[in-house]
Amino acid sequence: MFGFRHQRMREERLEAGFLPEWRDLLTERFGFWSMLSDADRARLEVLALDIVADKHWEAAHGFELRDEIMVMIAAQAAMLILGLPDDSFRNVHTILVHPTTHVVTGPHSQVQGLVSDEPMPILGLADFNGPVLLTWDTVLDDARHPGTGHNVVFHEFAHKLDMLDGTADGTPPLADQAQFDHWVAVCTAAYDRVVAGNGGRSLREYGGVNPGEFFAVATESFFDDPAELLAEHPDLYGVLRDFYRQDPVLRVRAG
Ligand SMILES: [Zn+2]
Repeated sequence: MFGFRHQRMREERLEAGFLPEWRDLLTERFGFWSMLSDADRARLEVLALDIVADKHWEAAHGFELRDEIMVMIAAQAAMLILGLPDDSFRNVHTILVHPTTHVVTGPHSQVQGLVSDEPMPILGLADFNGPVLLTWDTVLDDARHPGTGHNVVFHEFAHKLDMLDGTADGTPPLADQAQFDHWVAVCTAAYDRVVAGNGGRSLREYGGVNPGEFFAVATESFFDDPAELLAEHPDLYGVLRDFYRQDPVLRVRAG
């Protein structure tokens, strides 16, 4: 029954298309929206509609899931794949939204092999089999304020791109061996700088936890504050530009 209902809702949503009020919402609340080209906006609408229609959406703690919430998350996730194949989030099944930051207590692990009992505030989470978990207040705040280098949707969905090849090792699927070799050389050098405390303003300390977090943090910076990343880590900016097939610094400079 559940599968049938989901299928019917999916078809209804796809048929209705990207609603004009969703466009108004993005104009008002998504800082990057006005910086996108017409072609990018059109593609983003197609990709975001697909995410809204196709994924299982759940709200936690009696929180009510509204179109607004799904659209804001889907639009930011879609930014990452404007230059990638349409089905790049095929490994995202469920998106779980909490109203606000919640604190995990008891034994838990955010980083593989590292279990902690310390209370840990969670802004977002992505793993292989569970849902992508996001907190609505952070999602909204990040969307409204581009240029900080922080964006929880970019971060968690970058993890899912990394996981497409079966491992969360900081290397998403790449075109060929040459691109892979260049990626590893550049990312290893930048990662070592972060671990040594020299990530600069664009690569925050958390990126030094492991290569998976490095890729997620670098992706946040690449899309959210590209000029800073380009200035501080031009080689890293270059490999991310080649992977994502986008040059976000042009967008920011034009905007
Ligand atoms: Zn992470």
